[in-house]
Amino acid sequence: MKYTIRKQKAYFTGYGSTMQFSGMVTPFVFAMYGGAIGFFVGLIIGGCFLFIGSKQAIYYVCSGCGNEIDKKQDYCPHCQSHIITWLQQFKHLLVLLSQQSRKLLNHHG
Ligand SMILES: [Zn+2]
Repeated sequence: MKYTIRKQKAYFTGYGSTMQFSGMVTPFVFAMYGGAIGFFVGLIIGGCFLFIGSKQAIYYVCSGCGNEIDKKQDYCPHCQSHIITWLQQFKHLLVLLSQQSRKLLNHHG
């Protein structure tokens, strides 16, 4: 079975980035009307826009074939690879390492 990693990517166009752009501009627009307090209020509202925008802009791709994949899917529909997380890959690596070291120890002992 093939294994692949889910890579997180961000859109630079579309709805999400428009939200992010609004988030960055909002404090300055508010500052023009409300001064320092306006800037502060704009910062809070803008922060919300930035947060929502960054959520909207994120998508996932298969590191094996580069095709877009669903966040909830645990296998790639394009190349049939089993998608594991970085943590799972790390655990997989640890298991491999311990197996290798055990083999080495047995060989010497
Ligand atoms: Zn794939």
